[in-house]
Amino acid sequence: MRRPVFAANWKMNHGPTDAREFMRTFLAHYARHSDRLVLFFPSSVALPAVVESLRERSDIRVGVQNIHWEDKGAFTGEISGSMARDAGAHYALVGHSERRHVFRETDEDTARKVAACFRTGLVPILCVGEKLEQREAGATESVVTRQLREGLSTLDAAQVAHMIIAYEPVWAIGTGKNATPADASAVHAAIRHELRERSPEKGAAVPILYGGSVNRGNAAALLEAPDVDGLLVGGASLDAEGWSSIVCA
Ligand code: PEP
Repeated sequence: MRRPVFAANWKMNHGPTDAREFMRTFLAHYARHSDRLVLFFPSSVALPAVVESLRERSDIRVGVQNIHWEDKGAFTGEISGSMARDAGAHYALVGHSERRHVFRETDEDTARKVAACFRTGLVPILCVGEKLEQREAGATESVVTRQLREGLSTLDAAQVAHMIIAYEPVWAIGTGKNATPADASAVHAAIRHELRERSPEKGAAVPILYGGSVNRGNAAALLEAPDVDGLLVGGASLDAEGWSSIVCA
């Protein structure tokens, strides 16, 4: 029922020239598949190059790594959801751990950005995840549930059905330490429970992705874990051949 989603978060890597080169190699290795959804999150400046490379490939979609919650105005350095949509984006990452912990975004900011996505026609991927000390204190589920509730606070059940959730434990991002499939599955089940509370039928349809040090070696096992519907990948999505082998997992 839920087709797997493979999302590449390039973070602050690959400008337009590298992005074009990446897409040439990737498309040569990745034939059209209708049984999975592949998403790219390039930097905003590389987005037009990626959109252009995918002109013939509507099976692959593009998103932005961040938006501001306002539509326009005096917010130097920011981009809005409507600008991203105009540039060819269909998705937006919201609440990525680097936004929360490096740029100090709050749950309230995240909720405003989720609402802005719906207002501007972008599908949000709401990222949630606990820090190491929170996991060690046994607070994983309460932290993730709070981030989820706050992030969804402006939405009705019908809107929730049109988004994606990504569970990304902060201690696993870019560290080489990934959650085991069982650990990921346990948190995904808690997220699924929370979504079903809002709407038993629609909550079952929302894809829940795992992210955190996914690589060619661990992708298949993570994908087989119950309630893991896809992967959000940073470092291992930067190499076109490596990424194509992950999306074919
Ligand atoms: C991410 O940035 O969303 C991520 C999961 O990074 P990495 O795969 O490098 O841990």
